[in-house]
Amino acid sequence: MLMTKERRPAIRTLRGWAISVLHEVGAIRECEEHGWMQERGDPHARERAFDMARRDPPTGVSQADAVGEIHNALDSIGDACPECPPDRQARG
Ligand SMILES: [Zn+2]
Repeated sequence: MLMTKERRPAIRTLRGWAISVLHEVGAIRECEEHGWMQERGDPHARERAFDMARRDPPTGVSQADAVGEIHNALDSIGDACPECPPDRQARG
């Protein structure tokens, strides 16, 4: 007999968790106009995010995976909003 296995992850996605951690520590911020996440290039904030990943990984996720996902999220987030005009991004 087939049974429907219901998977109920403790968090929506590991990715979503990583983003929320990065946002919480201030490593990334949202473009006020377009809502894209931007990496702020703050090494201290990043360090705090990795710290949180090591100390308090999501339920069922290893520390290594949690830290790895923080890396992945940082890699995938640019330091500028893709929709803001380039000339506004270049200087600052
Ligand atoms: Zn923008």
